[in-house]
Amino acid sequence: MSLRDEFGQVFRTHSLRTWDSRKPADEQTECRCGWVGADLLGHHLDQALTRFGVVELPKPVLTDVDVDECEDPYEFRAPWGSYFVVRGSVESDSGPSWSPAHARLEAAALLAAANRAESQS
Ligand SMILES: [Zn+2]
Repeated sequence: MSLRDEFGQVFRTHSLRTWDSRKPADEQTECRCGWVGADLLGHHLDQALTRFGVVELPKPVLTDVDVDECEDPYEFRAPWGSYFVVRGSVESDSGPSWSPAHARLEAAALLAAANRAESQS
């Protein structure tokens, strides 16, 4: 199942069950999961964000590394290094190289740990 499909599943699970204008504003909306409130969109976002880490992707910047080796002349900068796309793989200036799937798994684990650390502080 793609990430898009999984997001869709979260939003289908947490879709509108009922809306009753006769009730007080903070009790008018009921979700299929049983949640009752006034901000269904906020509820959708909360449910998605409990499962998925969402970050703003950094913009690629033109790199000054050897472009012949790196046919994509862009890099993505992070505090401890830079990442490049080389022949379909993700490479870093510190040495490691990952397939796109492996890079996503590493990034997801790092993001999950950051979320947990933030929840404990
Ligand atoms: Zn819900």
